[in-house]
Amino acid sequence: MNASLQDRFRGCLVGLAVGDALGGRFEAQSADYIGGRFANTEQLINYITDEIWYTDDTQMAIGVAESLADHGEIIEDRLCESFVANYMPSRGYGRGARAVLDAMEDGDDYQAVAAKHFPGGSFGNGAAMRVAPVGLFFRDDPHIALDQSRLSALPTHLHPLGIEGAQLVALAVAHASNVEQFDRDAFFAHLLEHCKSSEYRCKLETAAQIQEPSELVPLGNGIEALESVTTAIACFALTPRSYEDTIANAIFLGGDTDTIAAMAGSIAGAHLGVRSIPDVLLNNLEESPKGRSYILELADRLHSAYTNRIANATNDT
Ligand SMILES: [Mg+2]
Repeated sequence: MNASLQDRFRGCLVGLAVGDALGGRFEAQSADYIGGRFANTEQLINYITDEIWYTDDTQMAIGVAESLADHGEIIEDRLCESFVANYMPSRGYGRGARAVLDAMEDGDDYQAVAAKHFPGGSFGNGAAMRVAPVGLFFRDDPHIALDQSRLSALPTHLHPLGIEGAQLVALAVAHASNVEQFDRDAFFAHLLEHCKSSEYRCKLETAAQIQEPSELVPLGNGIEALESVTTAIACFALTPRSYEDTIANAIFLGGDTDTIAAMAGSIAGAHLGVRSIPDVLLNNLEESPKGRSYILELADRLHSAYTNRIANATNDT
């Protein structure tokens, strides 16, 4: 039975957090090292016997989801307030991101700080890692999803490749949450239709042909959006019926495992729903003030806000 829409909202946000938290155990490790420790997905998943903690990816995605649930759209100042309210430097933020968030927190010119740390704008995957709630919330209209995901990137990511990475993840989440039966050709055709740059187009065309996990390697496993966004999308497209295989595909690549598994997990969760997440992972996700229970409630709040938005849009026409 296919997941309900509410279940898909829960699956997306919790799927992001679980992918991030499991991937966080392996960040910056090599594929050879991880592959040497675990023979398959089952061994990787069952290695978890204690609480897993999410990183900056989930913390910022919570900020995006809260801001959307409260305001119904991305408003830069409100989004920055939400990032600051959630900010815990110990969650693994990069050095540049910490400087920008510190400036936001102090009421300083964070855009100037971002320009200093990232001349020409950041093309890292920091906007893509947190964008899944935007894809869910605007799942009915790709053009609005593209525009809102661009706005959600701007406080920290001004480089076109950083922004487009976020847009592609948002579109992937939206599409995954919309379809009952996943069709790989239709999925990649949809992403390619809205892809602007030759760099992402080339990666997506490669990703669309992948048949085996080993073929994911050339897509990249780095912190640049171009080296991780299509990787995460391909991790899902390879095993669209399994949440755990999707995040395992990402983790077995090594490198930026938390972010790639977070993005892949959000897409898989949006398609398969929260019940697709293995109990051993769901039950071990941290139960802090903004842990498992809170994220489930936040997903329900976002779903209610989405339902209201759709009802109001229908009434207006
Ligand atoms: Mg992280």
